[in-house]
Amino acid sequence: MSRVDILKAIWLFGVVAWYVIRFPHEQRSRKTPVAQRAGGWRDKILMSASLTGLGVIPVIYLLSGAPRFADYTPHLLQSAIGVLLLAGALVLFHLTHKQLGRNWSVTLNTRKSHKLIDTGLYAYVRHPMYSAFWLLALAQAFLLPNWFAGLAGPIGWGTLFFLRVGREEMLMIDTFGEEYRRYMARTKRVVPGLY
Ligand code: SAH
Repeated sequence: MSRVDILKAIWLFGVVAWYVIRFPHEQRSRKTPVAQRAGGWRDKILMSASLTGLGVIPVIYLLSGAPRFADYTPHLLQSAIGVLLLAGALVLFHLTHKQLGRNWSVTLNTRKSHKLIDTGLYAYVRHPMYSAFWLLALAQAFLLPNWFAGLAGPIGWGTLFFLRVGREEMLMIDTFGEEYRRYMARTKRVVPGLY
């Protein structure tokens, strides 16, 4: 097994683990009644962009090696950073699903008895699950030694993130009013103290 094969296997492990973490929450979310649907077609298109960057393009690369012109030889330190980013992403992804509980939705929905979560990781940033997605997207860029397949992660995820996060905050203001505004005033979005 070459180093490139090992890196590809690590990325694949991460994506499978990602899905395993999400699966029980997806099952439960089907049974949790929805109050407001604010996602619509726009959010579906954005989710497809994210899935293309984080899933479709890297899987094509894994299976076929395409596009070969974008291959490069990775530095060992770069690969090690990629592994650390991936490990951090998985831990954060698991914890945020646990802490958000029944309030989680794959798109912009609110639930019938929606609660504002502002404790645990949510006391540090407003969107810690999106922080986990950023770590996953960066892990992809560091792990896959191909410019195109690697950068597809941050570009695909970034498209969903930047075009969604403002709308999600508007939905939260709509639902929780002043309580969410005060929460916004004391927290950043994804990186504590920075952004
Ligand atoms: N942006 C959050 C949640 C992602 S799941 C994060 O990154 O951790 C998306 C759903 O979570 C949205 O549809 C919204 O209804 C809900 N949500 C977002 N922030 C929330 C919060 N602080 N408390 C409860 N629900 C929240």
